[in-house]
Amino acid sequence: MKVGLDVGGTKTDAVAIDDEGRVVASVRLATGWGADAVIRTVIEAVTALAAEPGVAAITSVGIGIPGQVDSASGRVSHAVNLGVDELELAASVAPRLGVPVRVENDVKAAAVGAYALHGAQGSMAYLNLGTGIAAGIVADGELWRGSRGTAGEVGHISVDPNGPACRCGQYGCIEAFAGGGAVSKRWNRPGSLPIRDIFDAADAGDPIAVDLRAGMARGVAAAVRVLVLTADVDAVVLGGGVTALGERLMGDVAAELAASAAASAFMRSLRLDERVELLPSGSHAAAIGAALVGAMVVTDTVDTEGALTHG
Ligand SMILES: [Zn+2]
Repeated sequence: MKVGLDVGGTKTDAVAIDDEGRVVASVRLATGWGADAVIRTVIEAVTALAAEPGVAAITSVGIGIPGQVDSASGRVSHAVNLGVDELELAASVAPRLGVPVRVENDVKAAAVGAYALHGAQGSMAYLNLGTGIAAGIVADGELWRGSRGTAGEVGHISVDPNGPACRCGQYGCIEAFAGGGAVSKRWNRPGSLPIRDIFDAADAGDPIAVDLRAGMARGVAAAVRVLVLTADVDAVVLGGGVTALGERLMGDVAAELAASAAASAFMRSLRLDERVELLPSGSHAAAIGAALVGAMVVTDTVDTEGALTHG
């Protein structure tokens, strides 16, 4: 049985899937802050899953985690939202779990999961709309990382040199327009669900909120255009925390895409509206993707399997 973990800034979602890819059990627990606490969270999540009814012997563990991930070594760097600067995650947990462990960037893992849920055919970009914005591209079942792992980092494409400052140092990045973190910061009012508050305030006519909301749709639509124009994927699947807004967000994005189609016969020919989809909420895509990534180590690398069994 394959186990996958999506280690998020506040919660860790873990699933066990069988050989057919069905979710047999799932657990959700709070993520600890800092490297040691992240290691503890991983061990606890796998232990809790192993105790769930229906979970047979665990053969591999995959972990999706934010930050820069060296998937070959399982090393995590700059996972700022977790309080992790540098962590040899696979090497730290594999000996204690006694099974092969593979680590992948969370968005890339979610892309693998979304692809499987989407029917595992053709090509797909998974566009994650969360605190930040990034995409993972999967073609013919293979995750496309690029030469240095940067493939899909569409959040830092500038679409307006006069736009808002981005944390990366540029101006007018897609993420500065549509990233939950950047937008909440510009809204700068109290509230636990700032993006929802912005949509509510925009509905009530607040001009700042109207502007921020329009910028979000503009940013997301720009990301969709970039992904189709560079990779010509069959589908762009949207997921991440911000997509909890559902149709309120999708309606705005559809209107943006319709406007560019109306202005350009070329854009119209791309049929972007037909390629955009929303990941169903509560689908465990990120954890499922992590489980699939984790299982790759067993088939890919015989050496690792042997070494970890004796770890
Ligand atoms: Zn940027």
